[in-house]
Amino acid sequence: MRMAAVCNDGEILSRVKYTTPRSDQPEGIVEAIGKAAEECKSKLADCEVAAIAAAVPGTINFEKGLINQAPNLPELDGFKMVSALEDKLNIKAFLENDANAAAVGESWLGASKGFDNSIMVTLGTGVGGGIIIDGKILRGIDGTGGEIGHINVEPKGFPCGCGSFGCVEQYASATAVVRIAKEIMTEKPFTNIEEFDDFTSEDIYEIANNGSDLAKEVFRQQGFYLGIMLAGLINSLNPGAIVIGGGAAAGWDLFIESLREQIKIRSYCEPATRVKIMQAKLGDNAGILGVAKLGFEQI
Ligand SMILES: [Zn+2]
Repeated sequence: MRMAAVCNDGEILSRVKYTTPRSDQPEGIVEAIGKAAEECKSKLADCEVAAIAAAVPGTINFEKGLINQAPNLPELDGFKMVSALEDKLNIKAFLENDANAAAVGESWLGASKGFDNSIMVTLGTGVGGGIIIDGKILRGIDGTGGEIGHINVEPKGFPCGCGSFGCVEQYASATAVVRIAKEIMTEKPFTNIEEFDDFTSEDIYEIANNGSDLAKEVFRQQGFYLGIMLAGLINSLNPGAIVIGGGAAAGWDLFIESLREQIKIRSYCEPATRVKIMQAKLGDNAGILGVAKLGFEQI
């Protein structure tokens, strides 16, 4: 759990990092946010704190200030986070999905700055997304707007945590990179198989960079599936920019060629030529800055 005090020009004034406490009740998390907020505030000299804005890994109802579903923090399902934070801290509170927040952050101060229509893809444990149309984040009526990680790219593909199967998350996330590498390894081992159990997507990237064609194939597949997903989004949303970030974007130079190839094959020529596909610039700060920006807009 990371918290920062952010100035309205985007300068980060102070920051703290906590381990998210886990229990079957959400109160522990609210308690920890309260502590982190006090600590963050104590580092500020003569600054008025106007609001608190939280980016959470789940679908949210922005108007009601509640978390619909947070698959990795199920104790937050249905939790009215905004009123809990307002009661705890006595300041205005806002809530946003973490991938949406990252999209807003990148469009405020990062790679997609100056673009009114953009898509942010976050390749982490899962595949997150944020869609900005005419300068506004797309939330949809149930808060699942921008959940591009669950677009199907393989009709009879690998089962997904969302209940569907063949979602792009199962082919392009950091978790997927490791799984695809394992599948290839069972046929043709390209590194020491005993050590492989603890491998991360970064390790596989390193093996590929050291020249292993089989490891490179993992990233080619990642780009292939991302390209299929993005080709559909390019046709349907006609964005000016696509920003790709997150830990598994580290393999950029190994997946970007097959990604672009699928876009070229599958998208309308004009939007495919126009769209700028870029690496994210803000790293871990994207979500913090984005959710702060949304807070400033509201107040
Ligand atoms: Zn899914």
